[in-house]
Amino acid sequence: MKCPVIRPLSVFALVIAVVLGGSCKKAPQRGLDDIKASGQLLMLTNAPFPPYEFYAADGDLVGVDIDIARRIARHLGVELTVSIRPFDELLPALAAGEADMVLAGLTINDERLKQASFSLPYIDAMQYLIIPSTANIKVLEDLGGKTVGAQAGSTGEEIIAKAIADGALHKTGCQLLALADPAEAVAKVLTGELGAVVVDDTVALQLTAGHAVLSATPLFSQSGAMLSEQYGVAVAPSNPELLSAVNEVITELKNSGELSAKIKKYEAMAREQPGAAAQ
Ligand code: GLN
Repeated sequence: MKCPVIRPLSVFALVIAVVLGGSCKKAPQRGLDDIKASGQLLMLTNAPFPPYEFYAADGDLVGVDIDIARRIARHLGVELTVSIRPFDELLPALAAGEADMVLAGLTINDERLKQASFSLPYIDAMQYLIIPSTANIKVLEDLGGKTVGAQAGSTGEEIIAKAIADGALHKTGCQLLALADPAEAVAKVLTGELGAVVVDDTVALQLTAGHAVLSATPLFSQSGAMLSEQYGVAVAPSNPELLSAVNEVITELKNSGELSAKIKKYEAMAREQPGAAAQ
């Protein structure tokens, strides 16, 4: 089990943690009653990741995830508080009891399900490549000999790392460069430092808009399959009541068509604002 960073605990909490004999000493997670009593729902995310979370022209953090989270807070009758963390610190921070939920275009997968509970999926996504328009790269093995960028802790990073370790890219000279920010990776494709970036579809399309020398194209596995994923809201496994509330809101937003409308709205907003992905 991967232990999150251990934060200072009160002596009492430390004693309890030791007595319980858990391998990770976590701060106690807030239940739904604690959230309601505090009047605050604490969300963690990583930005910019347009259209899910990015900075509007006036500096406000906006996006599909922010709207969903605000709706969850409203459903619970509390205020939403959003904090930004590096992407690879989001789930460890949730496990350490530093927030109630994570919305960050976060893909549901088996490894993450060991660390958190996930809501019903709310977005279907797939892995894309950002490459120079002149490059002919379609499947994983075409990345042989290239230096490939991906966001640290992302599923894109994991796919390339696994392919290098024992898959299509094993001993092909492919190297992986993990970066904190997808926009930084794109800048390195423009300078030629990276041959490609692997990132989620909507973000790839967003980041290449306005760059004629770059293209965004779906990444296929060796067998030609699309690398499909689904996003979910992560909450602590000890908070099933919050999870039910989150699922109610997601179901409502999907069934009413509001979710699709929000995606369209924020995609258009981020497109009109060239700096959205790069702040
Ligand atoms: N969906 C990808 C993942 O969960 C990327 C998310 C992100 O970079 N914000 O790893």
